[in-house]
Amino acid sequence: MDQLRNFCIIAHIDHGKSTLADRFLEETQTLTQREMKNTQMLDTMELEQERGITIKLQPARMNWNHTKTQEEFILNLIDTPGHVDFQYEVSRSLAACEGAILVVDAAQGIEAQTLATVYMAIENDLEIIPVINKIDLPNADPDKVAQEIEDVFGFPKELCLRVSGKSGVGVHDLLDSICDLIPVPSLSEEEHTRALIFDSFFDPYKGVIAYVRVMDGEIKKGMKVHMCGTDSTAEALEVGYMIPMNVAQPSIKTGEIGYVVTGLKDVSQVRVGDTISSDMTKEARPLAGYKPAVPMVYAGIFTIDTEDYPLLRDALSKLLLSDSSLIYEPETSKALGFGFRCGFLGLLHMEIIQERLDREFNLNILVTTPTVRYVAVLRNGEEVMISNPSEMPDIGSVEEIKQPWAKIEVIVPESYIGAVMKLCDEKHGVYMEMKYIDKTRVNLIYEIPMGQIVTDFFDTLKSVTSGYASLTYEEIGLRVGQLVKMDILIAGDVVDSLSLMCEKGDAHHIGIDICLKLKEVIPRQMFPVAIQSAIGSRIVARETIPAMRKDVTAKLYGGDVSRKKKLLAKQKEGKKRMKAI
Ligand code: GDP
Ligand code: MG
Repeated sequence: MDQLRNFCIIAHIDHGKSTLADRFLEETQTLTQREMKNTQMLDTMELEQERGITIKLQPARMNWNHTKTQEEFILNLIDTPGHVDFQYEVSRSLAACEGAILVVDAAQGIEAQTLATVYMAIENDLEIIPVINKIDLPNADPDKVAQEIEDVFGFPKELCLRVSGKSGVGVHDLLDSICDLIPVPSLSEEEHTRALIFDSFFDPYKGVIAYVRVMDGEIKKGMKVHMCGTDSTAEALEVGYMIPMNVAQPSIKTGEIGYVVTGLKDVSQVRVGDTISSDMTKEARPLAGYKPAVPMVYAGIFTIDTEDYPLLRDALSKLLLSDSSLIYEPETSKALGFGFRCGFLGLLHMEIIQERLDREFNLNILVTTPTVRYVAVLRNGEEVMISNPSEMPDIGSVEEIKQPWAKIEVIVPESYIGAVMKLCDEKHGVYMEMKYIDKTRVNLIYEIPMGQIVTDFFDTLKSVTSGYASLTYEEIGLRVGQLVKMDILIAGDVVDSLSLMCEKGDAHHIGIDICLKLKEVIPRQMFPVAIQSAIGSRIVARETIPAMRKDVTAKLYGGDVSRKKKLLAKQKEGKKRMKAI
């Protein structure tokens, strides 16, 4: 075990995590040049490869001969997702290793998401090796970034390694440093085998496979195991190492990282953060830190074509097999028909699910505006959770409405401070603190209602800062808000799927904005159509779509096919617009 090193990579999106991991595989000759031909080996999801983002790398076990001592080491690389939506997964991955490589782009410097993860790693007592990547870039400024790392985290700047994932410079030394600096896994004193699940997924042939870090004892092939958090039992049908392909072994032991094939049919029985134990009396103490997934963002998903509803239902149940953080329940909307109300970890997670429904299941879907979960406290003291604004109880029966708040950290160049502050003020943020990262960049800290950041906050932030801002958020609990439910009426009827929650003070202008937007997108009808925004029975804004001009085709009875076609085409166009809404 003295030769075992478990570590992860912490990096902001695009700072070169995948590229560096590929160099590791190459330098350690874990994969041959030919196998490496398909670059970015460890990005598994199609979506990730296409968008060039890495949500999570495939774990890899590598052998490395230390250059000086010629000792042979085993290096286990696992990964932390570089996105705020997956904070919980990040914390579990960190708990599975003894050290972390902090990768910072030599041209960009520290970003908000790196910051959050590094603090979490420090809390977990991980040994951190700061690395400045992309030193081959013409605009790289490694000295400045090293100073930044020293100022922000307190790691001495001389200790920052300088590498290039592209050219491979410095990667050799980095591998040696991992052997020198990262601590040996500690020995266990527990009598039962315990292993931390840091990832799990469904394999159509083998059932659920868990990626684990064995903390105490060993897991042998054929052993009966118990998942403490979900209280499910299974047999370890196969165990082994990820190199990075799964390679079966007779057992995996204390300190090691490996996989366990459970044969279970449902990932929700094998959750990230849970403990696999050998103790069938179920008395073993679970490892700390297990939490069930808590969705942060909710939205309705409907099919464009109502006949596709059963397909959507099947697709979601299949997705659930590989993604235990997704939750959904049936929802009916008068306007959109049958669909599902789904809960996601965050906006990226929602986007991923949306893309997967589109690509893997070929479904043409419509997603309603994302919202958070509100708590309505009724006059009789009862509390109701509202994840769909149209379900908000009658205003008369509600005492107060609570909404989730978040603490956000935004890192921006100094010249954009004003723009960011203005945006945060508009979104009802409360200023907390401003810290300088270096001479030209600051970290702005605000508390802000979660509901304000789940819609277009990030896009607006990017545009007011010319793309320079990076953002991280963290939920900090519920607070009472001055909130109202706004209904949208079209031709006098409430369209349930368009209902939304907003701050009382914003209601007027939001109402006007929505009416104007709808006026643009709803095609003209034969009669004037009123679009109204209402709070309770009070109308706060109104627009009217004027009637179509005299309908010439009305006189054309039967016969003319080309005209009919034209009308149909127009109708199709209208449907497309509906989707845009
Ligand atoms: P990830 O999102 O952290 O996985 O980042 P990637 O590894 O996908 O890298 C993001 C981009 O940076 C890609 O276009 C890489 O080719 C590029 N890149 C990564 N490392 C280096 C490097 O050392 N030098 C240069 N010039 N480009 C790099
Ligand atoms: Mg990548």
